[in-house]
Order: sequence, then C-alpha cells, then structure tokens
Amino acid sequence: MTTKKAIIFSDLDGTLLDHYSYQSTAAELTLQQLRNANIPVILNTSKTFAELEVIHAELKLDTPFIIENGAAIFIPINTFNSQPEDTEIIGNYWVKSFSLPRQHWLNLLSELSAEFSQFYRGFSSLSVAELSDITGLDLAQAERAKQRQYGEPIQWLGDKVTKKAFIEQLVELGASVVHGGRFIHIEGFCDKGQALIWLTEQYREYYNSSSVYTIALGDGENDTPMLEAADIAVQIRSPVHDFPTLYRQYKTSQSRLYGPQGWAESIQQLLAEQLLAAQQGSHSI
Ligand SMILES: [Mg+2]
Repeated sequence: MTTKKAIIFSDLDGTLLDHYSYQSTAAELTLQQLRNANIPVILNTSKTFAELEVIHAELKLDTPFIIENGAAIFIPINTFNSQPEDTEIIGNYWVKSFSLPRQHWLNLLSELSAEFSQFYRGFSSLSVAELSDITGLDLAQAERAKQRQYGEPIQWLGDKVTKKAFIEQLVELGASVVHGGRFIHIEGFCDKGQALIWLTEQYREYYNSSSVYTIALGDGENDTPMLEAADIAVQIRSPVHDFPTLYRQYKTSQSRLYGPQGWAESIQQLLAEQLLAAQQGSHSI
C-alpha cells in the first residue's frame, strides 16, 4: 500500500500568526509534530522575502516558501534532487517567479496618480514608522515588510465608488487587485493557488508518487485561489471578517477557533493518525 504524503500550504497573518499579536504560540506543538512526521509546511503569504527569511527561522522551518501572494517561490537549494526547470539561483535558493517586478506596478500607479493618488497611501510612500503604526509591526518588522520585490500594497482612504473606479482602471492596465487583511495589493496575475500547483508538482516528481495530497489553510480573500486549488481546504476563522466565499464544498472545513488556535485544531483533526504514528515511531527509537 502506498502511503499518501501530505503537504501543508499555509497563510501567515490571521492564520498561523494571530491577527493582532502576530504570534504563533498556539500552533507550536503542532508544528513540532509535523516536523517529526516529515510533513512539509509551506508558508504561502503576502509577506516579503525579507520578512519570510526571519519568520521561517523563528518557526524552525527548512521548507520552500511562497512570497507576495504567489509572486515567487523560494526553494532552499537541495530541497529536491535537482534544480527545478524554469528557476534561477538567488543566494541559497532556487527561485521560481510568476510576476513582473514591483517597478512595473509602481509605474502603473503613477500613470493614474493625478486622478487617484489622494485616495490611498502605498507602501513605497509610507515611512517605516507609519507602516509600523498601521500594522502594529515593530520598526524592524515594518522595515522588512517594505522590501517588496513584486507588487505594491496600498491602504485605501477614499470612498467605495472611487475605489471601484480605481480598481477598474488598474485591471484595464493589466494589474491584478487583491484584498488582503489590511491592504489592497496591486500586482501581476499570480496567486497563491498557481504557486501551490507548481510546487506540488515538484514534490510529486521528488517523491516519485501520485499519492501526494495538499492541505491549504487561510483566512483571507487572497487565500481563496490556494484553498480552491488544494485537495483539502481549511478556512481559518478571523476576528475581523467573515469567511470568504468558496465555490468548492467537498473536503472543505471552517475552523471553530481563530488564527493559530484554529490552525492547530484543524491540522490535529485532519492528521491525527499520521501525527500519532510519527510520535510512536520516534518513541520506539
Ligand atoms: Mg491572512
């Protein structure tokens, strides 16, 4: 019998990290169990490479991670037997990118600046201190959050009607506009789902197995493509908004608890047997 291999794709803010405190404490034990069971946890987030490198180390992960809403995947070199096609080497990573660089999207925004620039504040125009104020990140974290490579998040200050017109014009110019927890992201047509599909294919080749299956966990609207693309979808309950609408219903659940508590609760329900077997295995060594 072939054992099915699970791969977990997870959002960070509001999912593995608490919406307010950015802490993952409630999920730590489960993360440890997943490490013991050799089940990869792939962070799939709107955050930047600079932020992810730090968070990855804090969470003791050595797996690939997906940044800026699916714009690029950073795969630690030697994760797989050989360098995946269509990737480049940047530092210690094989990098697969799905989006044009940030400057392209900043140029589009400046084309529309006469009409709309008074209605929003973009990351590029915010100081580190201002970004820290808006997000609750400390100054060092806010500095890393500003180092975006692929898209521009903005905070909308105007009314809904103007926002609709602004978004329509951006879409006409070839941008994708995605609502995250606090910001609207102006970026290329990449998403967390496309990145999940590409990376899962690499794992499938690596494991030489068609029995790989994916579990995705997320709380926001920008998680929807990832949740739709996964074999099992878990919507994490948010303290600030309702569950976004999913088309799928099969193998879809909604956590009872918020953020990292809901994350741990859902993983424990889905993988109880595998986590227990790994635990018993490690005790018998
Ligand atoms: Mg989120």
